[in-house]
Amino acid sequence: MWDKILNVSELRHLTGCSRAELVEFFGEIGEPRFRADQVFRGLHDRRLINFDEMTDLPKSLREKLKENATSSVLRVESKYTSIDGTRRFLMRTADGNPVETVFIPTESRDTICFSSQSGCALKCDFCLTAKLGFLRNMTAGEIIEQIIIVLNDVYGIGNETPHGTNLVAMGEGEPFLNFDNLIRALDIMSDENGLNIVPGRVTVSTAGIVPKIYDFAALERRPNLAISLSSANDELRNKLMPINKRWPIDELLAAAKAFEKTLKRGERFTFEYVLLGGVNDSDEQAEELADLLEKHRLRKAKINLIPHNPAEQLDYRPSTPEQVKRFKQVLESRGVSAYIRTPRGRDIYAACGQLAAMDDSKSDAFRRFREVVSTEETAKGVTLA
Ligand code: SAH
Repeated sequence: MWDKILNVSELRHLTGCSRAELVEFFGEIGEPRFRADQVFRGLHDRRLINFDEMTDLPKSLREKLKENATSSVLRVESKYTSIDGTRRFLMRTADGNPVETVFIPTESRDTICFSSQSGCALKCDFCLTAKLGFLRNMTAGEIIEQIIIVLNDVYGIGNETPHGTNLVAMGEGEPFLNFDNLIRALDIMSDENGLNIVPGRVTVSTAGIVPKIYDFAALERRPNLAISLSSANDELRNKLMPINKRWPIDELLAAAKAFEKTLKRGERFTFEYVLLGGVNDSDEQAEELADLLEKHRLRKAKINLIPHNPAEQLDYRPSTPEQVKRFKQVLESRGVSAYIRTPRGRDIYAACGQLAAMDDSKSDAFRRFREVVSTEETAKGVTLA
């Protein structure tokens, strides 16, 4: 079966088609519209991975679909479960590129963090994904399939998700460098006959691709926005996030202001700030950040402080918990809302900035961990797309 999937470029990946496109495709293969609706529901509502499971279709149609199309192009290569319950799925595309998706449960809600690209073209100095380099963009279908695979693994194929699902585009890649596929995927996932994940439950995070922030702001139904800032000072931000040389802070915050103007009453947006010990976490730097927000009159911005997630290959250390607290207090004393993001899944390379297709072969400590996890996980059954 996998050989066939490898030929996927010739087959239409139906998971990435909107309902209208499915209707068109079914027209092309001489099938009526209601069949397209059935298949859309089969893929996105019942979350079926194989056409053969769509037993409401005649067998002849299932065979025809298998010849002309595919419903599955990703394969789960391995799965890791953290002591905090976070799960990381290391998947492969049919042409062999890594994709990582993370499931983050809390008591009240589930969040799925998906990848918009395989690898990343940006060279943020504190991020492990940067070390992969850029491999390729995810198609809309590959973005959607990540979510389906995770939901099926956690809840069983097609079962209800008790808390609904929140999505964050914070996995591998820079979402705004794959803007069209991202927006297409989110649009399809928002369909009420399918996954029904409304834009209000989605957050897209960008390292600061300024023109795309304007495009995003202009969308009619759009998700929440987060902007990775990590420094209020161009000289330092140039070093930490080289994309800053292309779009420096003032241009970035002007775009953020344009976005802010489109928010309705009570809506907010986020700046992410990775706290790097001794680099960008001093009280003065917190003041500098508050000054910057004041200068741009950004009143609906909140700051998510992300303690740095360390890795052997990265030259940074996390700020001390005391300094994280002080940084937050300085911001609050200036009237800026700030929240500390609890790191999740650090032990399995699933936390922010740790996605680098890490598998057991790359670290001894990690291999030991995987062995413990895999016995338990194998018992539950590993999903193979
Ligand atoms: N490329 C997008 C989407 C990735 S989101 C972006 O940069 O916004 C991942 C978030 O994790 C970003 O805010 C990024 O700044 C942050 N991050 C990267 N490396 C990190 C690390 N090692 N520890 C903590 N956060 C990190």
